[in-house]
Amino acid sequence: MKKILPYFLIFLFSTTLFSQDYFYGTQGPFDPKIPSPEQFLGYPIGQYHTRHDKTVAYFKTLASLSDKATLTVYGKTHEKRELIILNISNEENINTLEDLRQKHLQLVDVKSPLSDVSQIPVFINLAYNVHGNEPSSAEAAMLTAYTLIASKNKDIISYLDDAVIFIDPTINPDGRDRHTQWANSRRGNPLVADKYDIEHNEAWPRGRTNHYWFDLNRDWLLAVHPESQGKLNWYHQWYPNVVTDFHEMGTNSTYFFEPMKPIASKDPIMPKENYTTLNELFAKQFSSDLNKIGSLYFTKEAFDGTYPGYGSSYPDLQGALALLFEQASSRGHVQETDMGKITFKFTIRNQYISSFATIKASIDNKDYLNEYKHRFFTSAIKTAEKSSVKGYVFGDDYDKNRTKEFIDLLLKHKINVYQLDKSIKLNNTSFKKGNAFIVPTKQPQYRMVQTMFETYNTYRDSVYYDASAWSTVNFYNMPYNKVTSSFKTGAKIINTNDLVNIDDFASSKYAYLIPWDDYYAPAMLYYLQQHKVKLKVAFKPFSIQATKEKHQFNRGTLLIPVSLQSIDSNKLYEIVKTASKEFKVQAYAVNTGYSKQGIDLGSRNFRTLKKPKPLLLVGDGVSSYEAGEIWHLLDTKLKMPIAKVPLRIFKKVNLKRYNTLVMVSGSYKQLDSLQRQKIKNWVAKGNTLITIREASAWAIKNKLVKESLLKKEKDSGKTVKRLPYGDAAEHIGKKRVGGAIFNVDLDLSNPLGFGYHRKIIPVYRNSNVWLSPSKNPYATVSKYTKNPHVDGFITSENLNTYLKKSASLIISKIGNGRVILFADNPNFRGAWYGTNKLFFNALFFGSEISIPKVDK
Ligand SMILES: [Zn+2]
Repeated sequence: MKKILPYFLIFLFSTTLFSQDYFYGTQGPFDPKIPSPEQFLGYPIGQYHTRHDKTVAYFKTLASLSDKATLTVYGKTHEKRELIILNISNEENINTLEDLRQKHLQLVDVKSPLSDVSQIPVFINLAYNVHGNEPSSAEAAMLTAYTLIASKNKDIISYLDDAVIFIDPTINPDGRDRHTQWANSRRGNPLVADKYDIEHNEAWPRGRTNHYWFDLNRDWLLAVHPESQGKLNWYHQWYPNVVTDFHEMGTNSTYFFEPMKPIASKDPIMPKENYTTLNELFAKQFSSDLNKIGSLYFTKEAFDGTYPGYGSSYPDLQGALALLFEQASSRGHVQETDMGKITFKFTIRNQYISSFATIKASIDNKDYLNEYKHRFFTSAIKTAEKSSVKGYVFGDDYDKNRTKEFIDLLLKHKINVYQLDKSIKLNNTSFKKGNAFIVPTKQPQYRMVQTMFETYNTYRDSVYYDASAWSTVNFYNMPYNKVTSSFKTGAKIINTNDLVNIDDFASSKYAYLIPWDDYYAPAMLYYLQQHKVKLKVAFKPFSIQATKEKHQFNRGTLLIPVSLQSIDSNKLYEIVKTASKEFKVQAYAVNTGYSKQGIDLGSRNFRTLKKPKPLLLVGDGVSSYEAGEIWHLLDTKLKMPIAKVPLRIFKKVNLKRYNTLVMVSGSYKQLDSLQRQKIKNWVAKGNTLITIREASAWAIKNKLVKESLLKKEKDSGKTVKRLPYGDAAEHIGKKRVGGAIFNVDLDLSNPLGFGYHRKIIPVYRNSNVWLSPSKNPYATVSKYTKNPHVDGFITSENLNTYLKKSASLIISKIGNGRVILFADNPNFRGAWYGTNKLFFNALFFGSEISIPKVDK
């Protein structure tokens, strides 16, 4: 039973304050007991941007008033906004939703024979507003929910017999409200359409991204954020047949719906049926409904669905039809265009029309969609059976936490993972039982297994909207191998709670040692530094009698000498024990400083560590993505605060408060010669500047460092080859390294290489910043290998003329300090667990690196 609407509210709602026929057309009449969005909000849709909490309140009201709806809260954002889905269907379906879910799941769990699909409804997930400053769709979500629940129109009522509709009004509420606040608080009255008005020109970091400035429309695969984690958890309970993903694009554009660009947009592991038959069936409905309201649109020319982490591609890999919509943005309430004004209201109406077109096409093809889903998962198993690859084995002997994080990701995608039955050796790599795991290819999620492990080097197209490589196992720098013979598995991994266990260690009056190999060792180091523990780091390897047995300790091992602390030994023991438990990083007690091999604990090759005091430059001209990645990394992995300092106040910043300055990609035009000199002088005093990608190029071009970028080979008077004008975008796009994975050779003896055991590691490259290797033979920390290609598209010119000759990471000396120049982004999308350690090393060990002078 639902609550009865209080009397005064009935009075309010019954007064028709606003005419909203513009949106609803002939979708009425409506039940007067259900408040329309405009009645609930107190303004017509499109007059303001609706705050997320009001949308949530409206949906809660709908769920409480109607028997046709219930509300699911599937998570909370970083800023603690609720992530919601309104479940809508007829009363009977709503009451038996769990039964319907169980019936629907037999489409996924293909062991069970397919029952009569005409008896089960179609599951439609209308998902909106993943990019916060593309706001039209969340407003359309309210109109859609209202229409479905309140309309007495017989067509609309009949939709609810055949479909369960899951409305997620806003995938990215934190970003949405950042933009909502911007647009509402700068709204003129009367409205101002001038494109130069502040309302239409959001400030850095804008509302597209989430709290940490991440693009959630890339995070479906990587699942770094609570928004995606909550969604994936929901997703794998319901496996909808159709999923929408509503966006906005440039103000002078029109409207886009699928099919996408016919060449590049296809993930080779997908059944073609999705891109051809299904897309065409739906396109017919979209065009016909948009024709009726006179809206212009385009299809087939643009956008690319290959990267599997979009809202319009991930569901495809789960046997659904995922649909991308792009609406020209009014970015604000009204804005001038080449062809008159575009209003917020107009953009909302197109999204509303497409929402209903999606519902209609889904219902018209209901049985097909259900059969397709079953066929999708059946074909996954059949294709796997035909493959020569029977499974993938992986695991890192030195870093259990990184292995665990990778397994966590696989489990989020419902990939079956097992313990290894016995240790095996493949391609000269040993995989030890206990440290290594196996993923069989023969499983319903075979296509996700392929997504995680397979790499490609041939491509049908060369211009990608985004990354052309996503073999996630490489993101984690995970030793792995194909298994081509049959194998027995050990126990299935249900969760990873017990995968990393820490042994107790005794208290010591002499010293503790902590290996640097584990992913969370840097977090433990920072915790210890916070608790006033004094630490040193080993610049050379050694072996020493630790508790019980002799241990081999690698470079980077942390040393805590007990007698040198200002805290007493019992308290120290408690701190080290607590840190070891919290971060699940093993510590060892030692009672002697005398090593069996290598350096002793009193060696000068142990350097005293300083606590990092980092500053990150942010603001106009700086990549908010890369800045956000560092902020997120330090917050969530290290629990370390970082000052995010706006460039516009850099002039007055007293740099003495910091010892590490981080600059990510950006133009840095705001830093004039005086300010550049200020940075240089500060570095020369012994501090560390870390530059990433374009910031490295900036430091070189502005002569902060005496390094160089690879030069273009001279044309030597050659005439320019004529090319067709119509192919220009394609030719130019090709030359950009859009996102691919390459191997580098890492100097494991350099402090930036500490914690690594294999010198060949994969890195992510999505720029054309080509660093020349340093003239100082000790300063090139990593350089591309002879055959560096791992995964993704690159032209042969970029590969041979530039990449193979360039460095990925170098250190350059300025006075007593140093600049650490990354050509590649070690923290890409919060998912590169494999190269995060390079950045951690720069942060914690940077101050101890002094590049020796070499006579020329
Ligand atoms: Zn978008």
